[in-house]
Amino acid sequence: MHGNINEFHMAFYSVAFLVSFTILMQSFIQKRTDRVHNIVFISLVSIIMFNSLTEIVGEFARPHILESNAALMVDDICHMLYFVFHSLIAPVFLIYVLCLSDAIKKVSDFHITLIMVPIFVMELLILSDPFTSVLYYHDSNGDFQRNWGEYVIYFFAAIFIFLATVCIFRYWFAMTMRKRLSLICFLGVVLIGLAVQFVYKNIRCELFAEALGLLGIMLLMESEDERLDPETGIYNRHGLEIDLDSNFKLKNSINIISLRIIDVSTSLRSIGITNINYLTKEVAEFLKTKIQRYYIYNIDPSQFIILLDADNNAESHKFRKIFEKFEASAEADELIEDILERFKGNWDIGKTKFSLNPIILKANMPETFETVEDVFFFIDSPLPKKLDKQVLQGPDLNYLLRRTEVENAIRRGLLEDEFEVYYQPVYDLHTKKLYGAEALLRLHDSVLGEVYPDEFIPVTEQMGLIDEVDDMVLGRVCEFVESGLPERKGMQTLNVNLSMIQCMQKGFVDRINKIVEKYDIKKSMITFEITESVGADDYQKLGEIIKELKSSGYQFAMDDYGTGYSNIQSIFSLDFDVVKIDKSILWAAEKGELGMTILTNSINMIRQMKKKIVVEGVETESQIKLLESLGVDYQQGFYFSKPIPKADFIRDILGEG
Ligand code: C2E
Ligand code: CA
Ligand code: CA
Repeated sequence: MHGNINEFHMAFYSVAFLVSFTILMQSFIQKRTDRVHNIVFISLVSIIMFNSLTEIVGEFARPHILESNAALMVDDICHMLYFVFHSLIAPVFLIYVLCLSDAIKKVSDFHITLIMVPIFVMELLILSDPFTSVLYYHDSNGDFQRNWGEYVIYFFAAIFIFLATVCIFRYWFAMTMRKRLSLICFLGVVLIGLAVQFVYKNIRCELFAEALGLLGIMLLMESEDERLDPETGIYNRHGLEIDLDSNFKLKNSINIISLRIIDVSTSLRSIGITNINYLTKEVAEFLKTKIQRYYIYNIDPSQFIILLDADNNAESHKFRKIFEKFEASAEADELIEDILERFKGNWDIGKTKFSLNPIILKANMPETFETVEDVFFFIDSPLPKKLDKQVLQGPDLNYLLRRTEVENAIRRGLLEDEFEVYYQPVYDLHTKKLYGAEALLRLHDSVLGEVYPDEFIPVTEQMGLIDEVDDMVLGRVCEFVESGLPERKGMQTLNVNLSMIQCMQKGFVDRINKIVEKYDIKKSMITFEITESVGADDYQKLGEIIKELKSSGYQFAMDDYGTGYSNIQSIFSLDFDVVKIDKSILWAAEKGELGMTILTNSINMIRQMKKKIVVEGVETESQIKLLESLGVDYQQGFYFSKPIPKADFIRDILGEG
């Protein structure tokens, strides 16, 4: 018999080949090759690709097997190779599911033996087939006939697929929605393919279905976009959330190392760098030399988190050791030492060298922190004011208790009206007269005593209560303005601090107006202060908000100029009336030439932009002289007065009552 090539079969094999080839290329191009699950995925794709190839070659040989011994041999070899590799699909898929759910960490040598035995039996059957024909044989017509061995292979494959399905549901809770979806899709598509091929023997769509299923997995899941910071290529907060969550659900014990870099902005400013990403990249590059990239998370420019497995019985399994060669983590304390050692040296950015100051915190989930929320509480908590160590762990972390107490104090403060607005005067440098005042909040707590805003404002923001607090301050200030006293005493305006978080919220403009319009006051008597450290992509929205509020009469001041990370150009695209230069800039100017240059240049630049300048933190007469010589408009600081209660302000500053 001299047959033709079956083009119908060919079409399915070729598409399966092309699809798997494309997935493979894509995986390499996107460098998704370093995690264990990446490698397992690539193995799956390679098997499909190789199988399609053997089928294609076999298909060419098949029409000639009756008249040519060579063709018969090629066909046999192709069949054999097909079975050798295709029988691995199901067990490898099972391993893939285990990797994705992180359950692989729980797999013992015994489990692995259980997986290996059937694989061994299958391969033995396949490899012995040329002598035993237990899988298939060609009958006297040259037609292909199946034997019992093939059913054994199908049986094992079915068991593996069943186990994989069980694992998917068993670890359902520890996987993200995307992982679940892509695995279910894969199973669905493959089962449909199998069913079709089973019913219609001539539609050879199994490989094609498998390739499609893998394509689905790649599109849905193997991509890491959502958890990677596009600029630095490091896992972000979202990635950390996902990984902490799955570790928590699997009850894995993990060490959490928080690397905080203190005074980042000062270090960078000292060398005139405004793009903080340089620094993030530098530090990340270093960390990657110590530990694989997927253990590192970048929370913000000044904080990296590293997650390490803390399981002690890692020793007991050979298999785990193999696994850990790829994925496992260094010893926490060793890593900490390495990091501290590195930070003793300098960092290079371009041609400049500078030093950075690290603090390392070490904790553990579930021992130190029982929940993922607790871990984020730890991550988001500011460091204690006084630090006498570089590494904080165990009892050193008790400062977090303070934070819980502060949270309670804030709730109490709102309930029992323990917040008080203080005022600090601002003077005109030319006329030496009172120009305005800044409203600064204090919390007099019955348990903690006096609590200062540097401590409670960030906590209030994270608790989602900052609106309530800032609205209250604004109301009190309006009340003060409405009394008419400030204006009678020649004050031009009162400054109210706004939290950035608040400004970007929906309906912010309306809310402000609703509060202020309750009082019979001129809106220009209110100046809002906003700090410069805004996320760059928000400038446009912020610009619109400022424009809208300014058009109804309010004034705006940029606060803390010189402390943020932001892009100077963008900042000045915002329509501020006043720029407040931070006290650290003034103080640095007295210490050295570089500081003086920064102060002088800042002032010149702001003046050229036709904005008024306030300098904060004026404590001495010599500072006043300096500011006079530089042509600053207004000044504020302890030299004139600390922030004081309203009654004191009226009496001591306004000279009333
Ligand atoms: P800020 O807006 O930069 O306020 C100026 C801070 O510098 C105040 O600290 C003030 O007491 C302090 N200061 C002023 N002159 C001098 C000086 O000559 N020497 C020294 N050493 N310090 C001086 P305070 O009151 O502790 O406030 C800290 C921060 O808390 C404020 O920084 C502001 O960002 C925030 N804050 C205060 N009240 C509010 C509020 O009602 N709402 C919001 N959102 N934030 C507030
Ligand atoms: Ca301020
Ligand atoms: Ca300030």
